[in-house]
Amino acid sequence: ILKVDHLNKYYGDWQALHDINFSLNKGEVVTLLGPSGSGKSTLIRTLNGLEPFRSGEIYFHGTKVDLSPKEWQKLRQKIGMVFQSYDLFPNLTVLENILLAPTKVQKRPREEVKKEALELLERVHLTEQAHAYPRELSGGQKQRIAIVRALAMHPELMLFDEVTASLDPEMVRGVLEIIKELADRDHMTMIIVTHEMNFAAKIADKVLFLEDGHILEETAGQEFFDHPQTKRAAEFLSSME
Ligand code: ATP
Ligand code: MG
Repeated sequence: ILKVDHLNKYYGDWQALHDINFSLNKGEVVTLLGPSGSGKSTLIRTLNGLEPFRSGEIYFHGTKVDLSPKEWQKLRQKIGMVFQSYDLFPNLTVLENILLAPTKVQKRPREEVKKEALELLERVHLTEQAHAYPRELSGGQKQRIAIVRALAMHPELMLFDEVTASLDPEMVRGVLEIIKELADRDHMTMIIVTHEMNFAAKIADKVLFLEDGHILEETAGQEFFDHPQTKRAAEFLSSME
């Protein structure tokens, strides 16, 4: 579904990503691990067209992504993204937040999207919050809504960048459970940046370990945690315990 080929990205003169190569099959879950500043968010943002890159190619379903903003806008409808800071529109209710893009951008019938939105809300146990405003929700609830809002676009690929990093510990589990269910039940293709190592070990089909903008390791999920190939990855894992 996704292939990244010799990708190099710079911020000004400084190279943030070095020769990134990997591919992602449909239904596969990749977790992106690495120390702070290693380029995880940069890579995620680049894959979503939020950051320009200097050289290399990104293929989506085998077709090279042409770098025009219009092309990215089309592609972004198929790629859902959830960040650390929940970016819900504060002046819209939960339901309106979810309905906005599917009805305005994808021009799908409102009733159809609404029915689906209510089903998704039920799935994340937030039916009662449908008409609440974001300020009335906890951080964990807002993140669950942000996930639902991305799912309402019927993405083929979901990108998660430290979605639980700013949550209180008791909120983290509910959010991670939803992501796990997306993997197990929906076989959603996902790239996940997380600092929750237990979760990463459980969910990852494959781990990409990044350091200083390089992919140092690409290892099968559990294998990475049991037998990291590089010294740096082993050090990273023991620092996370
Ligand atoms: P963290 O775990 O702390 O979120 P990260 O792995 O996501 O780290 P990035 O945010 O991708 O790291 O940053 C990678 C490097 O690029 C860092 O050295 C950072 O300072 C730099 N960087 C990130 N965004 C920009 C930007 N907009 N302009 C210039 N440099 C940037
Ligand atoms: Mg980051």
